[in-house]
Amino acid sequence: RILLEGFTKRFDKVTVVDNMNLEIRDGEMLALLGPSGCGKSTTLFAICGIHRIDSGRILFGERDVTNLPSQKRNVGVVFQSYALYPHMSVFENIAFPLKVRKFEAADIDREVRAIADLTHIGPLLERKPAQLSGGQQQRVALARALVRKPDVLLLDEPLANLDAKLRLEMRSEIRRIQLETGITAVLVTHDQVEAMSMSDRIAIMGQGEILQIATPDEMYHRPCNTFVAGFLGNPP
Ligand code: ATP
Ligand code: MG
Repeated sequence: RILLEGFTKRFDKVTVVDNMNLEIRDGEMLALLGPSGCGKSTTLFAICGIHRIDSGRILFGERDVTNLPSQKRNVGVVFQSYALYPHMSVFENIAFPLKVRKFEAADIDREVRAIADLTHIGPLLERKPAQLSGGQQQRVALARALVRKPDVLLLDEPLANLDAKLRLEMRSEIRRIQLETGITAVLVTHDQVEAMSMSDRIAIMGQGEILQIATPDEMYHRPCNTFVAGFLGNPP
């Protein structure tokens, strides 16, 4: 499991996340849902190791990773802009995280093909990113994030750049892939329906704090306050 204990983050003396406690259980997809600017990405960056935190601890299982840089945490990330390497083929893009860790060529080949099968991009391995649709690029970004079998998959608004039809398709695809791999995942979104349809539990954030954590069903039917109720579209 992943644990944030007393996580606090400030930017120039402004506290944007204040003493947050959050547990992400093994194998679950946790949606971090809240309005723009409430601190969702900041929380994800802290788990990822992109940001130093001002106080608190971050644990991956028993391992305290609070002071470890991102490269030393085993995390897979997919952000809104997929940021594939444009000059590399799909194969090379997915292989990249293994290559920098000096995996053997035969192992790289096997792992890339396995994850490409899982994400349904097996036939696209020789293409360049520019020759792919938005949804296919998204699949490549997911494959690259998963190829190292990370401890946690971090998704920050992964569907925001897709058109409505593709967004629906990729919602269920990301969920399928998460369930098939059994990977622990955090999905950051400001979209209620996305959170409700893709996650095991929702953590709803207000300004810099978590207001409620519950299953989608519990949260919809028993919101802890009127803000949560209103945000979920089920006002009292
Ligand atoms: P959105 O849904 O719009 O992506 P968010 O919930 O992900 O919003 P964050 O990006 O975590 O929000 O930002 C939380 C707060 O911290 C905001 O008020 C933002 O302006 C501030 N903030 C984020 N990054 C920085 C930074 N590098 N320097 C200063 N302030 C920052
Ligand atoms: Mg954000």
